Amino acid sequence: MCVACSPGIAALARGVLGNLAAPSFVPAAIGASAGARAAAERAVILRGGPILTVDEACPVAEALAIRGSRILAVGSATDVKRHFTATTEILDLEGRAVLPGFVEPHVSVLGSALAADGGADAAGDRLAEEPECVAELCAATLREFAARGCTTVYDTGIGRLGGLAEHELLRTLARAQVAPVRVRGALVPELASALGAAPGAGDDRYDVAGIAYWVDGAMADRAAALRDPYLGGGDAGALNYTDEELREALRGWQRAGWQLVVHAHGDRANEQVLRCFEAVLADAPPGRTPHRIEHFTLASDEQAAHAAALGLSVSHAINEIYFRGEQWRDEVLGAERAARIHSLLRDVEHEICSSCHSGSQWERPGDCTPIGGGAVDPLLAIRTAMTRLMRDSDDVLGPFQQLDLGQALRMVTRNPARQVLLGDRVGVLRAGMLADLVVLDRDPREVAPERLHELRVLETWLGGRRQRWSDLR
Ligand SMILES: [Zn+2]
Repeated sequence: MCVACSPGIAALARGVLGNLAAPSFVPAAIGASAGARAAAERAVILRGGPILTVDEACPVAEALAIRGSRILAVGSATDVKRHFTATTEILDLEGRAVLPGFVEPHVSVLGSALAADGGADAAGDRLAEEPECVAELCAATLREFAARGCTTVYDTGIGRLGGLAEHELLRTLARAQVAPVRVRGALVPELASALGAAPGAGDDRYDVAGIAYWVDGAMADRAAALRDPYLGGGDAGALNYTDEELREALRGWQRAGWQLVVHAHGDRANEQVLRCFEAVLADAPPGRTPHRIEHFTLASDEQAAHAAALGLSVSHAINEIYFRGEQWRDEVLGAERAARIHSLLRDVEHEICSSCHSGSQWERPGDCTPIGGGAVDPLLAIRTAMTRLMRDSDDVLGPFQQLDLGQALRMVTRNPARQVLLGDRVGVLRAGMLADLVVLDRDPREVAPERLHELRVLETWLGGRRQRWSDLR
């Protein structure tokens, strides 16, 4: 065990990982503790700072009331005051801003954890040989996600690095509430088959309802499948499946009720995914879950229109522009194609449910590779979505795709909440929704776009429970 391991998490890991012979996929019910019951009674009103709701019906509110785990009211100070009772706590924001908790729709918890500790190459071996240490690293990663303002994260490939042990570990850590963040995810097909799992059998803290496929490799490795060759000529990347293989695989999982989460980077890969989705959706069962394309890095206008017509959502690794923009422009794609990567404004114009994910793509070296060291940073994602500034040169990549603040906020709150199938519970601040919030030190509307990443996350609230990440004073 590494010296950093806490005894509590080590015991959790031993309990879970020592019993892998008999995995229990269906979660045990969580009993209501005395603390949870007390929280259920708690009533709080936040006021004294801007409340940016991301709800078009009331975009900016003066006050927000919470009772237990839910938002009771949002609106003017006068309206919300009606919910004041003798036991209501009043919290003065003193100018700090409240937003919906960020939803990070594309992470690898285990990948990020190991990326921070020597790399994810031998994840399976490390899980088998030092499970307590890996558990501690994953717990720290979940806390880091929350400290960056996330209240929900979605792992887009559970089991890919660590098989069943990865799934069991994540479920245990999420249920043990080692961090105030909800964990959702997509399983790799082999694991879902082996488990005989059903989608969506979890709860608000941990659930898997997706199946993940990867149809090409990472752009940085010149492994994304492109229509035209990479800069310098020659190769144009490769597809991992034939159309028939991908189509029939997707069809089978859709029939079983799963959300399809397909990673595709290059324009040739996106073309194949759209072609296969079109065929699969033609015989979709009524009420199916909405499917996702992950990355959608390089896509044509026609492909965006096609995705919109099929009702697919997309999620962009937007900070690739910040961390890798110059390299891709000068060495990988050339200026014209590079300017079109992650075309967020085009998504908005097509009314696609489009989101940003901010980092932590460490799923397998050579496929989805980490951005900026693997840490998530939704505030940097907002900044990059608005400015498209690149780190090394401070040049702008594709200024015609810059978003305004309202559009960028939707990309890290409401839209990813819908993608991860929590759109009816989180992602906007509205009466009846779960009280998942982030408190920032300043109003983002009063900060220049190029300085938005300097905002500080002071608190997150998960289901009405407050977690401070730095002292208010
Ligand atoms: Zn990916």
